[in-house]
Order: sequence, then structure tokens, then C-alpha cells
Amino acid sequence: MSEAKQREAICTIGASIFDRGLTAGSSGNISLRAEEGWLMTPTNASLGRLDPARLSKLDRDGNLVSGDPPTKESFLHRVMYEERAGAGAVVHLHSTHSVAVSCLAEIDPADVLPPITAYYVMRVGRLPLVPYFRPGDVALAEAVRGFASKHHAVLLANHGPVVAGSNLDAAVNAIEELEETAKLYLLLRGAKTRFLTPAQIREIE
Ligand SMILES: [Zn+2]
Repeated sequence: MSEAKQREAICTIGASIFDRGLTAGSSGNISLRAEEGWLMTPTNASLGRLDPARLSKLDRDGNLVSGDPPTKESFLHRVMYEERAGAGAVVHLHSTHSVAVSCLAEIDPADVLPPITAYYVMRVGRLPLVPYFRPGDVALAEAVRGFASKHHAVLLANHGPVVAGSNLDAAVNAIEELEETAKLYLLLRGAKTRFLTPAQIREIE
């Protein structure tokens, strides 16, 4: 994909995410691997109103080559790429239902959401909870790094999900599946529920 097409793809998907209320204000950020580094959404930019020409272009060392300065959460993207050689794109959202689940006291930090549907198991799988750190604390990057080699999706406590994919569509599809599953989980709380069994999970893994 040419860089012009990559820039268009980030802006189109950003607008779609924003228009459907999957992240609000200037929250959420998207990056993808470009020929000589990365393209990333800028700091303080709404995903609903991205300008292809102003996306942050970073070289392989993370230095800004052109465009606006990158999101302050760029380190979340960097650690995902550093730990996952096959990652072509990373998406991070403050999506309501995922954030709500990340605040629950009784969730299992080793695997936050139960296997509600086959699609969740296939697109997300085991989802670890990364402990809470204040915004800008570099310790968050190292905490995410600890999970990133084994998990393409992580949930930051009281914050939101970070998901890597082989390409932008894969990362977006997975983070949307995560958000929908978080919504289902909240809808089902308190109801006796049949989750997929270990045998059913083995069939699709
Ligand atoms: Zn965030």
C-alpha cells in the first residue's frame, strides 16, 4: 500500500471509529508500519477529524520526520511493534464498555473477559489487564512490554484497550470485537450464562 493510501486508511478508519462513538473527544490513537518507520495520529487530534497531510511520520528510531507531533501515547504503539515483529498496525481507544470492564474490581487480571463468542476467541483470545499508571508514567510502557510478546491485545486498567494486528483492518476488527464483547459481558452480568467450553475453544484456536 502506498503511503498516500495508508494515510487515507488511517483517516477513514479514524472517522468511522469516532462517528460510531467508539472513542470520544481527542482520545484514541492509530498507527501503522510504513516503509521507513511509522505513521501515527497526532497529539490532541480527534479521530473524527484527521488530516492525512498532518499525520505524524516517524522514522525507525521514533523521531518525528514530518507532520504534527505524535500522540503522547505513542510509547504504547512503540512497545507493541518492538515486541511483535509481525505487527503492522496498532489501535488504542478509550471505548466505553472496555473501559468500564477495566474498572471492575472482581475481574481476572490474567484473562479479563470470558469466552462469550467464537469470534472473540479468534480475534482477541486471552486478554490480560495491565495495572493502572498515571498518564505519562513511563512505567506503563514497560508494563505493557511485559505482556506484548504473548498478547496482541491488552487492557489498561481504568483506561482502555491496546490492540496490534498484522494490518490496520485486523487491528480495528479485533479492538471492535473486544469492545462488543465487553458490552455483552456487562449486559450478561448477573444472568446465568453459558460461556464456550474448553473443548469448544480448542476447536477454534
Ligand atoms: Zn489512552
